[in-house]
Amino acid sequence: MSQAVLERPTLVLNRNWQPVNVATVARSLTMLWNETAKVVDPEDFRLYSWSDWARLEPREGEPMIRAVTFRLRVPEVITLTRYDRYREAAVTFSRRNILKRDHATCQYCGVQPGSEELTIDHVVPRSLGGTTTWENCVLACVACNAKKANRTPERANMALRRKPFRPSWKPMYSGPTTRIESWSRFLSEAYWNVPMEEPAPPPHPHPVRHSHRHEHGRERC
Ligand SMILES: [Zn+2]
Repeated sequence: MSQAVLERPTLVLNRNWQPVNVATVARSLTMLWNETAKVVDPEDFRLYSWSDWARLEPREGEPMIRAVTFRLRVPEVITLTRYDRYREAAVTFSRRNILKRDHATCQYCGVQPGSEELTIDHVVPRSLGGTTTWENCVLACVACNAKKANRTPERANMALRRKPFRPSWKPMYSGPTTRIESWSRFLSEAYWNVPMEEPAPPPHPHPVRHSHRHEHGRERC
C-alpha cells in the first residue's frame, strides 16, 4: 500500500453528520473495518460499510490503495456509527476540563481565586457512595471544601450554583491546513439547516450513482 495515500486526511463526521475531526485514511479504514464508522459518498451521501466499500472499483484517475490482491478506493469522508466514541475521547474527565467547565469558579460561593486555590469537590461525598464523575464533581474553593466536609450540599446547607454536568459535545473541527474539495458540503453553513433523518444503509451493494437521492432521506437543499 502506498504510504502517502494512507496519510491523506479524511473528514470525520459524528452521527449527526457534524464534522468532528480529521483522521488519516489509515485510521479511517481501521474504523470502517471494525464497524465504528462508515464511508460517506460526498456526492450522494450514500453510506458504505467496509464490505460495500471494498467491492467498489476505484474510478479512473482517483487516488486508491493498492494491495497485493485488491485495490481500494480512498475514503474522503466517514461518519461514526456510534455517538460516544469521539466525545469520550475529546472531553476527557480531567482536572483541567473541570476547571474549564466550571469557569475556574467555586461552585458554592462563586469566588475565582485561581486554579491553585480550587479543589475538586465530590458533591455526594465518596464516603457516601459519591462517584468521581462529571455529574458528581465540581470546583470548590479551599474554604468551601473544608466547610462542606463529608456532607451533601443539603446537609451542609450549601447550595450549588449549577448542577454539574458532562460537558456537551461541540464539534471540535475548525479546519485543517489540508482540505479536500468534497468536504465543503459538510462544512458549509447551509448544511446545518437541512432537517435531519437517520441515514439509511445502502439498499444495494452496487448502487447506481445519483439515482437514489430522493429515497435516501438526506437530500441537499
Ligand atoms: Zn467557595
